[in-house]
Amino acid sequence: MSKSSMSVPEMFGSNVFNDAVMKERLPKETYKALKKTIEQGSKLQPEVAAVVANAMKDWAIEKGASHYTHWFQPLTGSTAEKHDSFIAPTGTGAVVMEFSGKQLIQGEPDASSFPSGGLRATFEARGYTAWDCTSPAFLKEDAVGDVTLCIPTAFCSYTGEALDKKTPLLRSMAAVSKQALRVLKAMGNTTSSRVTSTVGAEQEYFLAEKEFYLDRLDLMSCGRTLFGAPAPKGQELEDQYFGAIKDRVAAYMKDLDIELWKMGITSKTKHNEVAPAQFEMAPVFETTNIATDHNQLVMETMQKVALRHDMVCLLHEKPYAGVNGSGKHNNWSLSTDDGINLLDPGHTPGDNAQFLVFLAALVKAVDTHADIMRATCASSGNDHRLGANEAPPAIISIFLGQELTDVLYAVAKGEKIKKGGTQSLKIGVDSLPELPKDNTDRNRTSPFAFTGNKFEFRMCGSSQSIAGPNVALNTIAAEALDEIASRLEKAKNVNAEIQAILKETLAKHGRIIFNGNNYSAEWAKEAEKRGLPNNRNSVDALKAFATPKATKLFAKYNVLTKEELHSRYDIYTEQYAKHINIEALTAIQMVKREYIPAVINFMTDLGASVNAAGKYGSVQKDLLAQVSTLLGNAAKKVAKLEDEVKKAQAIDKVEKQAAAYRDKVFTAMVELRKEIDALETIMPRDLWPVPAYSDLLFKL
Ligand code: ADP
Ligand code: MG
Repeated sequence: MSKSSMSVPEMFGSNVFNDAVMKERLPKETYKALKKTIEQGSKLQPEVAAVVANAMKDWAIEKGASHYTHWFQPLTGSTAEKHDSFIAPTGTGAVVMEFSGKQLIQGEPDASSFPSGGLRATFEARGYTAWDCTSPAFLKEDAVGDVTLCIPTAFCSYTGEALDKKTPLLRSMAAVSKQALRVLKAMGNTTSSRVTSTVGAEQEYFLAEKEFYLDRLDLMSCGRTLFGAPAPKGQELEDQYFGAIKDRVAAYMKDLDIELWKMGITSKTKHNEVAPAQFEMAPVFETTNIATDHNQLVMETMQKVALRHDMVCLLHEKPYAGVNGSGKHNNWSLSTDDGINLLDPGHTPGDNAQFLVFLAALVKAVDTHADIMRATCASSGNDHRLGANEAPPAIISIFLGQELTDVLYAVAKGEKIKKGGTQSLKIGVDSLPELPKDNTDRNRTSPFAFTGNKFEFRMCGSSQSIAGPNVALNTIAAEALDEIASRLEKAKNVNAEIQAILKETLAKHGRIIFNGNNYSAEWAKEAEKRGLPNNRNSVDALKAFATPKATKLFAKYNVLTKEELHSRYDIYTEQYAKHINIEALTAIQMVKREYIPAVINFMTDLGASVNAAGKYGSVQKDLLAQVSTLLGNAAKKVAKLEDEVKKAQAIDKVEKQAAAYRDKVFTAMVELRKEIDALETIMPRDLWPVPAYSDLLFKL
């Protein structure tokens, strides 16, 4: 049966070695043993791995695969894969298809070219990949029908240091599960045995005509336009958001859904976003581990499918100046294995008490580690968004909604609940008043908003891996829950202790709650008064990874050692410098090889026209003078940029170098852009060497 004639339920997950396939294809005992490893983290025996590997291979081959790969997530932020075929020579000139348990469990990619931030000396370059059986293996199909079995893996050095984004994520999930369970037990829960952090990551993206993209070196090498005068129409009519989807885009989205569904990715909603040519896809939430793997696949598939439609998918945080950039909303919560969402207020006094405890934990966690959360979203691309009146500001705060905030304070103080109630509410005895559920969309400006039964972290960049933000969320939650659990375990009266915890939390950390407009200048001032950090650029923000506070936090919960954490600080700071360096070199090349020659050509034409027109040539003369001035400025500014790049390149300390790229190189680039954009507005359209914003944004 061809894929296109399959129904959606038949198609969904058809390329995943999922629970149903395992149940069908594995001997009962093997299936049970594997499930135990997946659910409880027990050690997988080699015999079990051998049987699973064989079943996986047979399944993949039946589906057309000839190769497998250990699929991993190095610190570059993208994914890596090296394909091995299943063939094994028999010695008689023939081959058989083989895949052993050892090959499933462990791989040894030559890892010397992946960033390690000094964790792995080059003489022991080999890292190893280890099967993560909690994220199902799947098949990747390319357009020509080539099929590869992909095995999600963690990537470590031989001495066990995490060289990737998955390892700390798995560790943080274990940490938050352990501490959340302690809290639940202390509150009398006897049914839950595991707590999982869950995420639904809404993904924004732009589509652009491939032909135009290929004519723009900046889009090709930086993912964003470095130049471009604004189009006459932008997003001011608000006619794109949720607008009717054009046929061509609809065809793309349909193909995208099919590809994602086959890989078991629950693509659920799709719509036009605020900026022209901007769109969004949201999946149904999953565990933070699987959601992170899936979001990487979403980004990759979005780009791959776009090419089939002669379009390019832009995942950069700010492809175009003047219209909205793209982000990723990370909807996060905690659930028990028996189906309780711990951030759901519930309906009974018991549920309410549990909710208040977890809410208090997050208020405390986010206030204590706001700097770390901000750092997990730092990148040169995201610097264009955070604080630019379209995305949340660089200041972390929590939106709870006024009603919930009032209730929280009233309960903490033992005061009467204003609405309806006449008596003060006793934790564990009375029910919370009904809270409005439609809080969600009332405050789109908050970076960390409570949306009824989960928190929505809205600071993440569209191109980044969501691993980092979720490592941080899981770990800071683990720490706060740990402290609460220790108190509840000792308490004689648990409900009275909850009340005390709530009161103390609000007194100490209530400053992080802000329900107003996060875009306003008053908030920046107010936040400063409250002592909240406001790191407006990546270089400053990333320093939160290098503090004793961060070191202590991540080490205490076995998420990242001091060395592992520091390597990340170094790598991300260096990545910032590298990105700005590429942008600067691209800008220089475009100006010298495309813009300046085009302007000179125009001036030659103008000069000839001035001569030919004689005394009637005043318009040409004025224009020539104007163009000549702008060209002169551009030439000076490009020389300045070249000079700043040279100076920055010569700095050898990572931190100082990144600061130079931010303060000197980036600033010189912004200056240069002004002259070029001014030239674009007065030059004839046919002489301008690259497609304009109006082409890129409106011609899809
Ligand atoms: P919106 O109004 O923003 O569309 P939704 O309730 O549809 O709100 O949720 C947006 C995202 O949040 C989806 O990806 C959804 O699956 C996810 N989500 C819903 N519940 C949870 C949860 N308990 N944990 C994590 N993510 C969740
Ligand atoms: Mg949202």
